[in-house]
Amino acid sequence: MASRLVENLARVRERIATAAERAGRAPGEVTLIAVTKYVDVDLARQLFEAGCEDLGESRPQELVAKAEALAELPIRWHMIGHLQRNKARHVVQYASLLHSGDSWRLLEELDRIAEARHQPFDVLLEVNISRDEAKHGFDHEQLEALLPQLGNLGHLNIRGLMAMSGFHASLEEAQFQFEQVRQLRDRLIPIEPANMQLRELSLGMSDDLEAAIAAGATMVRVGSALFEGLVT
Ligand SMILES: *Cc1c(COP(=O)(O)O)cnc(C)c1O
Repeated sequence: MASRLVENLARVRERIATAAERAGRAPGEVTLIAVTKYVDVDLARQLFEAGCEDLGESRPQELVAKAEALAELPIRWHMIGHLQRNKARHVVQYASLLHSGDSWRLLEELDRIAEARHQPFDVLLEVNISRDEAKHGFDHEQLEALLPQLGNLGHLNIRGLMAMSGFHASLEEAQFQFEQVRQLRDRLIPIEPANMQLRELSLGMSDDLEAAIAAGATMVRVGSALFEGLVT
């Protein structure tokens, strides 16, 4: 089982390296976030032992449970799914980065929590590029308009943007959507307030990581490709 995981991981890293090279980028510019939502604590531990220090969870309870069970390991936990405000406190305690900053009210709550902890908290802003109704996130116009207000959240470090391609997007459509996120990021950088350094682009999952890296992703969030043959 461990060797299958190591093989899968090597294949994913190879895909990342190939996509980066093709885009004229260094593989080291892209961080793999291994999404452990399909697997138990044991497999998450094996992933860490195989060299993945960045692990992601989409549900707050799971993130907290795994982070507590593996507390002795220097894992960076990434919260990648929708977060309700009443669960925010626990996530801030355990996560090193929230990818899914998807509403003003959530960000405001995170800012309050970070202030009380006397510790800044790192977040990305989620952009709803596909405009799927079921997806969370800001749309482009909203985000540009909200920028000055986001500057008031002085206890957050806003480090970039996150997005998911549409449910039925082809690879070409996905790449187009990801490129729009990068262009939005490039437009926001000259006007970003002091608590923002929009360097990170968290784009791409198992099926479209190549498109994401071609568009400039600095983080890819990969789950199922790591666990092929291990979970059904
Ligand atoms: C589950 C999930 C992923 C990983 O998806 P795979 O297709 O399994 O690689 C990435 N991002 C988010 C937000 C997720 O919920």
